[in-house]
Amino acid sequence: MNASHLLQHVFGFDSFRPGQAEIVDAVINGRDVLAILPTGGGKSLCFQLPALAREGVTVVISPLIALMRDQVRALREAGIAAGSLSSGNTDEENEEVFSALEEQSLKILYMAPERLAGAGPLLSRIGVGLLAVDEAHCVSQWGHDFRPDYLRIGALRRQLGVPLAAFTATADEETRGEIIRQLFAAPPMVFLRGFDRPNLLLAFAAKSGPRQQLVDFVAARKGLPGIVYCATRAKTEVIAKALADIGIAALPYHAGLDPATRRQAETRFQRDDGMVMVATIAFGMGIDKPDIRFVLHADLPKSIEAYWQETGRAGRDGAPAETMTLFGAEDIRLRRSQIDEGLAPIERKQADHQRLNALLGLAEALDCRRRVLLNYFGEVPPGQCGNCDLCLDPPRRFDATEPARKALSVVLRTGEWFGQEHLIDILLGRTTPKLRERKHDQLPTFGAGKDLDRGQWQSVFRQMLARDLLRPDPERRGGLRVTEAARPLLRGETTLELRAEKMEAARPERALRLLVADEDEPLLALLKAKRRELAEAARAPAYVIFPDRTLIDMATSRPRDLDAMRRVSGVGDAKLAKYGDIFLSVINGAAEQVHPARRKLAGQEQGAVFDRLERLMFDLRLGEDGTGKPLSLTGSELARIASRRPRSVGDLADMIGAPKAERFGAAFLRALE
Ligand code: ADP
Ligand code: MG
Repeated sequence: MNASHLLQHVFGFDSFRPGQAEIVDAVINGRDVLAILPTGGGKSLCFQLPALAREGVTVVISPLIALMRDQVRALREAGIAAGSLSSGNTDEENEEVFSALEEQSLKILYMAPERLAGAGPLLSRIGVGLLAVDEAHCVSQWGHDFRPDYLRIGALRRQLGVPLAAFTATADEETRGEIIRQLFAAPPMVFLRGFDRPNLLLAFAAKSGPRQQLVDFVAARKGLPGIVYCATRAKTEVIAKALADIGIAALPYHAGLDPATRRQAETRFQRDDGMVMVATIAFGMGIDKPDIRFVLHADLPKSIEAYWQETGRAGRDGAPAETMTLFGAEDIRLRRSQIDEGLAPIERKQADHQRLNALLGLAEALDCRRRVLLNYFGEVPPGQCGNCDLCLDPPRRFDATEPARKALSVVLRTGEWFGQEHLIDILLGRTTPKLRERKHDQLPTFGAGKDLDRGQWQSVFRQMLARDLLRPDPERRGGLRVTEAARPLLRGETTLELRAEKMEAARPERALRLLVADEDEPLLALLKAKRRELAEAARAPAYVIFPDRTLIDMATSRPRDLDAMRRVSGVGDAKLAKYGDIFLSVINGAAEQVHPARRKLAGQEQGAVFDRLERLMFDLRLGEDGTGKPLSLTGSELARIASRRPRSVGDLADMIGAPKAERFGAAFLRALE
């Protein structure tokens, strides 16, 4: 069976993700491979599919024991003979795996690294055809995920004399070099795919009433699984409580909780399909839940790398997911002082300040955030991404040269000893006792900034801090100092552009990209309920039955028979046989009540046109658009087309947008003639 046949019939996907095809090809052909794909890029498929195409058993070494069972579960659901050996197994389970191995009926064997010691004889006997190493960076002694047992893999490979394919999302040079040295005899084929995750909506917002901002954000996404990252343990508890108070299933998670409580929380999060984890960064490694729909940073992360790793836990299934980072001047001061007060040598501190500057540059970016991010990782994206807050809602900018100079001047005239709020008091001409006592009401800058209000000044100061024009001095209890970078501005050699923030309290932004159109929402809810029922009966996580993406696809494309069901992404032969009818009856049962747009056309000629277009659409939905969402038309779009009967692709584009018009236009116009 060739790769694309397996892809469609076993995994139920109609196309490879970027990078997968070449990797799968190389692995099937027995090449040694190191593949670096971003989180959610689809690494598992790159060894699972070749395992089916190749002779013998593929041994998969993975450190995430807790998840191994779920992965094996998911493979079995897809009709693949898979098993695992890890400390989580019961004796019976082990027996079952051993006898399957002896009978040579197993295709994929997951092994925890600690089972490698002494496994040589067994593995030599059972006819291993391929070694796959997941999370291969665990072999690196310098990384924080080091697993000593990973060092045994090289010897095992030599002993078995089989090809080895290693996978990781960590791409820095050093780690890559070490993986190659430790695992391979000769340099492998290296596949390095970009860092981008196009399905993630990127957004940052300045804190203004941060507690309310984040509660509103989560409330607007009620029912979707998500992570809220907080800087402190105490905060996770407070926020989890605030969320629970408004009826959201939220749990705190941090290293101070006892292990049993933590494990319980992990399991609930992994299995439920609508829970919010309010966590410190202790929560992360080993979380492989593919359908996390949002990651909200309640505080500024440590670096761009940390940001991207934490943010990247959203939307591994490729369906749209949202990310939001809240930050304020307080965060900047805190991060600076952590660096300054650390024990690192001076050069290291300077480097850390630069790294922080890079992160702040991302936070305060003025156009396409994804560009700034990818540039940092050395990639040059082709254009505006269209899926970040700045592309979707470009901020107003203003020439801040004058206000910034005033700010610098008031800092200098007060001897670089004071914090932001006192400086703003001076600019606004407020006579506070502190101000009078220091005679700051006699400065020429006193009252010189009345053209802006306090909120606007706070925004100016924050943006100047972020650009490292001002920096808190730990020796002066955080008093702001003017940095070298600000000199040209003071001397009038450069100008400064800043973002004009909307000063009204940040309203809860609508869930920017809902997963389906309103009219499909009820059906999606029914499909999820059915999935939950099946998952609970099987005592498996919901995504093992079908990932979100598959349900979304069902809700929008509404297959009417098994043939159409087979075309839904994520529905392979085994799942079609097992679940096809069950989900069809949900869809058909719902069809009568839903699609209000179609119902309005009942008995009219447009109704028949609607049906014709809908059929066509199912046939044409071959590929995907850039966000990983299948290109579909909603019921109301179809109804609009059926009633207005556009004459050209241009007319059509006005109604449904250019990408869809391009995909469906020619066929639709023919059908409408
Ligand atoms: P990674 O290990 O790289 O983080 P996974 O292997 O866990 O990513 O894959 C993430 C998700 O993407 C899974 O839900 C998987 O089923 C899905 N996926 C993988 N390949 C494809 C594909 N070609 N088409 C659609 N979905 C895919
Ligand atoms: Mg993985």
